[in-house]
Amino acid sequence: MNMTRQPLILEIKGNSLDDGPGIRGVVFFKGCPLSCVWCHNPESKSPKVEISYDPEVCIACDTCIETCPEKAISKENPFFIDRSRCNLCFECVENCPSGALERVGLDMDVHQVLDVLMKYESFYTSSGGGVTLSGGEPTMHMEYISELLKQLKARGIHTLLETCGHFDLERFMAVVYPFVDTIYFDIKIYDEDEHRKYCGKGNKRILENFKELNRLSQKGAIELVPRTPLVPGITDTRSNMEAIAGFLKSLGIKKAQLLSYNPLWHKKNYKIGKESMFIHDPLMNRFMDTRKVEQCKDIFKQSSIFV
Ligand code: SF4
Ligand code: SF4
Repeated sequence: MNMTRQPLILEIKGNSLDDGPGIRGVVFFKGCPLSCVWCHNPESKSPKVEISYDPEVCIACDTCIETCPEKAISKENPFFIDRSRCNLCFECVENCPSGALERVGLDMDVHQVLDVLMKYESFYTSSGGGVTLSGGEPTMHMEYISELLKQLKARGIHTLLETCGHFDLERFMAVVYPFVDTIYFDIKIYDEDEHRKYCGKGNKRILENFKELNRLSQKGAIELVPRTPLVPGITDTRSNMEAIAGFLKSLGIKKAQLLSYNPLWHKKNYKIGKESMFIHDPLMNRFMDTRKVEQCKDIFKQSSIFV
């Protein structure tokens, strides 16, 4: 097997029901070219290794405070760990009896990832499932995912890629596209300036990539599913819903997914020592009202798009 430069793996799930058809193995990669302010996996944004602390699991034994050679841990610190002092030696993680401290980001080569995924093969085959690559953004690691997808296809496994769409299309077509069955493609915000404001980059490349993949999808070469995460006051506005629905309709698309808002990212942000924007915004701190989700769906249905 040709080994390629390794990204960090955030997590591998063996039996997800949420990331495509059937029961699926899911590989979450670290690193993303966008920086969406509401990212529901904030620990996947950075491609680098991080340390995480979960106060709900901590039993306050103080072992880590005594163990840390850099004196980076203290109860007075609102995030418990002073990341500017921490050198990521992970001595505290090794000695924590409760699992409250964790290393975020695993060094795993393609072979190791495959070994984990294939333990669940019978689930995939018996349920019409397969393996999903998610993130972070898997296409930040084109050569690596190319090899992984190729190995999965050689074993007859259905492959699905979840992407933010911000990638080098030429490279993607050369090394990733041949091994993907389905693409879940995020179109979060249609307006270029709003996209830059909330996602850190404009969306020209994303929309162009989507159009090209849709052209191939219309020929039956691949399944392409556009998805929009619903975020209160940012992506779920009438103007954004109408603009995305209109864009999809103009491309002849009949099916899309709207993902209801999940506020758990605030806790995840805290665990990796990040202040959450919108922490005091009530709409951002609860699950989305089903009526609001239905209103968004209705806008898509008015454009004859099934959601
Ligand atoms: S990883 Fe090392 S330096 Fe960082 S908090 Fe833990 S023990 Fe201290
Ligand atoms: S070692 Fe673990 S359980 Fe003990 S205080 Fe530190 S984080 Fe909490």
